[in-house]
Amino acid sequence: MSQLERFKSRLISERELQLATLQMTLSKEHDAEVRKLACNIFTMEADELDEVISKLELSYVSKFRKTLQAIDASLCQIEIGLYGFCADCEQAIEAELLKRDPTTQRCKRCNSLHHQHDTDNRRVLL
Ligand SMILES: [Zn+2]
Repeated sequence: MSQLERFKSRLISERELQLATLQMTLSKEHDAEVRKLACNIFTMEADELDEVISKLELSYVSKFRKTLQAIDASLCQIEIGLYGFCADCEQAIEAELLKRDPTTQRCKRCNSLHHQHDTDNRRVLL
C-alpha cells in the first residue's frame, strides 16, 4: 500500500467514526426528524449531509461538520491528485504533519505563520 493509500484509508475510517458518533448522538435527540436523519446519515452524499446538518440547531453539530468538511476536502484532494500540498505555498506538506493529522492543509512553515497571524488578529481584537 502506498503512503497516499494509507492516508486515504485513514481518512475514510476517520469519516466513518465521525459519522457513527454523530449518528449515535443524534439518535438520542427528542426531535423525531433528527432521529430519522440519524438513520440516513450513512447513505447521504457528503454535500447533502453537510447541508442537512448545517440546518440543525444543535450546538455540538458544528464540531462534527468542521471535521467532516476537512476529511471530505482531503479525500477530494486525493481524487484530483492535489493531496499533501500546502494551501499557501503549494510545497509538499511534511509527512510527519500528515501522519499526525491527515487533514492538514499547511506545511510546517506556513502553519506557524498562520497561527502567528491568528494570534496577531486576536491581539488587535482585544
Ligand atoms: Zn506552505
